[in-house]
Amino acid sequence: MNAQDIIESEDFKRCAAFHGHVCGGLAIGYVAATAGLNWLEEQRALDEELVAIVETDACCVDAIQVLTGCTFGKGNLIYKDYGKMGFTFFNRRTGKGVRLIMKPDTFRVNERQIELFKKTRDGSITEAEKEELAALGTQRMTEVLNTKAEDLFNITPVTTGMPDKARIDASKPCARCGEPTMASKLETVNGALVCRGCLV
Ligand SMILES: [Zn+2]
Ligand SMILES: [Zn+2]
Repeated sequence: MNAQDIIESEDFKRCAAFHGHVCGGLAIGYVAATAGLNWLEEQRALDEELVAIVETDACCVDAIQVLTGCTFGKGNLIYKDYGKMGFTFFNRRTGKGVRLIMKPDTFRVNERQIELFKKTRDGSITEAEKEELAALGTQRMTEVLNTKAEDLFNITPVTTGMPDKARIDASKPCARCGEPTMASKLETVNGALVCRGCLV
């Protein structure tokens, strides 16, 4: 599919509706999730529960949640704060997985976009510049969607690093704030169980 077909597809529209806007980042997530799902399908590993590990918290992760069904709330979307465009998809039962990491220099940073983002933040952006920024975003999105996954990412099979299943345990009150807290998340401080919120 070329970019225009993808943009008009139901899958991409669902991603856009969930994310709230369309952008280059959403397109990166679309390409990564689609390639990851295709890989798992070839391995006959799609019918079981999937797990996604994402190494960024940028726009792309919303497309990954929509397309893979791995969501933050279900506990099968694991976030690692590495600041990398890295995405790993696992089949929980077989342990088969694949990691996609964006190739260096795949897309050069657009200086003008950065300048306009800064202006958006400090409120000095003009109406004409807003339109320019939107056009640059659409251009980038189209470029990404017209790129093959294997040109965008290094794609390698992964067999280790499967995360444990999300655990459900009983809550206990924190010794400081008294709020019920998952027991495994309480820390022991001078013999008392204290929640992480009270430790910061
Ligand atoms: Zn976005
Ligand atoms: Zn507390």
